[in-house]
Amino acid sequence: MRQPVMAANWKMNKTSKEALEFVKEFKSGLSKGNKNNAEIVICASFTSLPCLQLELKGSGIGLGGQNIFYEKEGAYTGEVSALMIKEFCEYVILGHSERRHALGEKNEIVSKKTRTALAEDLKVIFCVGETLNERESNITWKIIEEQLRKGFNGIDKEQALNIIIAYEPVWAIGTGKTATPKQAEEAHSFIRKLIAEIFDEDYSEKTRILYGGSVKPENVKELMSQPNIDGALVGGASMNPESFLRIVNY
Ligand code: PEP
Repeated sequence: MRQPVMAANWKMNKTSKEALEFVKEFKSGLSKGNKNNAEIVICASFTSLPCLQLELKGSGIGLGGQNIFYEKEGAYTGEVSALMIKEFCEYVILGHSERRHALGEKNEIVSKKTRTALAEDLKVIFCVGETLNERESNITWKIIEEQLRKGFNGIDKEQALNIIIAYEPVWAIGTGKTATPKQAEEAHSFIRKLIAEIFDEDYSEKTRILYGGSVKPENVKELMSQPNIDGALVGGASMNPESFLRIVNY
């Protein structure tokens, strides 16, 4: 039985003051129960990580960043390293479609970042997913396979056990258009078979695969009823404590 994971991706939203307000309200709501025993992770902007680390101490809620640079240190003005975020948090989102498509991050870059993050013992929320054009051109499986095979290149099974995969069809992110539970399950089941090929059955059985793309309190239960959906990566609906609590307690 895989423990469900509910991860919030706040993207470039919330000042540290707003982030603290959210967490105070969210913690008070969560004190009434986490009925699915979900692992909860909040992925915030770098600037909020220090104060959130203090506020989340002892709460059981995990904290994550949304990016790192792939080099350990050096002359890379404006970049932030794995070692730097590791001072404050234990997770990082990598390969998010907004970075792949709006910021031009190729599979090779995502792979380098993943290796660097895992080497620093960060847990990686590794995102994959096809664009609408790719889905309509019937190359969804090819795209996901490439993202996973190239992204996992050079990573051994032991390290890969620190990866949570997120299937996020690009056409469903921030659009209000969710994949149907059947579409999502089909992709998750494809991913689970593929990671069994890349590593083995044991790895595949243990690895959590989250769905992301317009998850809301209204659609989370049906998505979570699918056998290969182990949680959600939530953007818009994680911005409000009440709505994210309803998702966590689906
Ligand atoms: C995301 O940012 O990863 C995401 C899935 O966003 P949204 O829930 O808003 O579609």
